[in-house]
Amino acid sequence: MLQNMSWTKAEEAFKQSDLVILPTGSCEEHGPHMPLGTDFLVAGEIARRVGEKTGAIVAPTVPYGHCPWHMDFPGTVNIDQDVLYGYYMQICEALVKWGAARFMFINGHGGNTPVLDRVSMKLRSKGVLCCVVDWWTLAGTLNSAWVERGHGGVPETSAVLALFPGLVDMEAAKPAQPKRFSPQLETQSINKFGFRNVPVKIWMRTRDIVEVGNFGDDPRLATAALGESEIGAVVEFLSELSRIRLQPDPA
Ligand SMILES: [Zn+2]
Repeated sequence: MLQNMSWTKAEEAFKQSDLVILPTGSCEEHGPHMPLGTDFLVAGEIARRVGEKTGAIVAPTVPYGHCPWHMDFPGTVNIDQDVLYGYYMQICEALVKWGAARFMFINGHGGNTPVLDRVSMKLRSKGVLCCVVDWWTLAGTLNSAWVERGHGGVPETSAVLALFPGLVDMEAAKPAQPKRFSPQLETQSINKFGFRNVPVKIWMRTRDIVEVGNFGDDPRLATAALGESEIGAVVEFLSELSRIRLQPDPA
């Protein structure tokens, strides 16, 4: 954990590892039952565990992200994509100066993904390798029981129950009742609607589709046990992945 090292320890650590894990999240609503810090807390804890298993350097978590669609809910903080891109780039460029040659972004929030992709492409043109991991997508691919069909649903609530049980208020958890905008359109997400069983992207705000803020599965079905197996499998997978040595041609 870079934040716990002195500069002399950091100097030593960068001689041992050129892989830096950067957890990224968002400070945003996750329904009435979950903390605003959900995305960065979970990403940070996965990163800490992967670092512990592999010896990779774990940089401090970036807690804010891009989430304009949630800005109707108190406490949410949105960072514009261009600002976030510049912020991620400056963090990575500083770490490259100290010895990072490879990054694994352990991301907890979907709004950050296009920005992290852009950072990765830019850094690749400078000879640096980046791997972007959306942990909830990885979890759903590893096991269909962990597919997050929304936001603050069963898999995500289970993860917070497992990692930070004191921060979830299960009594406040409510199933989402997504609004319909047309009898022909099925509401699936804030930007995903089904038309004749084909998903189409139409951007709404979260408040347009749900009152509670969470959507997808009924969060009352979440359990700490599900979260523990889910997070355990993600940590295991990423620990193995981060041990792979890639030797691409110099950019
Ligand atoms: Zn989330």
